[in-house]
Amino acid sequence: MDTLQLWGLESFYTAIVVLFVFLRIISIIWVAKDVSARTSSTLLQIVAILLVTFFTPIIWIPLYHIIKPIWYKKDKMPWREACITNTTICVECWMINAKEHKCCVNCWKKLTIKCKECDTEYPHNYRYCPKCGWPNIELN
Ligand SMILES: [Zn+2]
Ligand SMILES: [Zn+2]
Repeated sequence: MDTLQLWGLESFYTAIVVLFVFLRIISIIWVAKDVSARTSSTLLQIVAILLVTFFTPIIWIPLYHIIKPIWYKKDKMPWREACITNTTICVECWMINAKEHKCCVNCWKKLTIKCKECDTEYPHNYRYCPKCGWPNIELN
């Protein structure tokens, strides 16, 4: 009888441990997918995954929300609208600026980038130089 009760308790603990390991694995997969959709920075991706691997949820959940970039990489809608309306968007504060602006009217962040190939200055959110097609080294 005693042995049976002990065995029941042990399998109960085992089930709890398995559940926690399972939840931890799910969390790691979720963070890995989420962070890679938000940033191209390998360092940030590694930090986020290490955070969820080695800390308890009470620590890693708030920390992850602090370090993660707010926007997903695929959220390109504001940039597309800016392109149509001849405006550009500040990466720092999301202020809408005229395309000719050299720096943001709201926070002074530099808005243009100089093409490495033809020296044309163009809005920093363009992936390629509009004149010669050379990739924007800050985005590509
Ligand atoms: Zn700004
Ligand atoms: Zn160019």
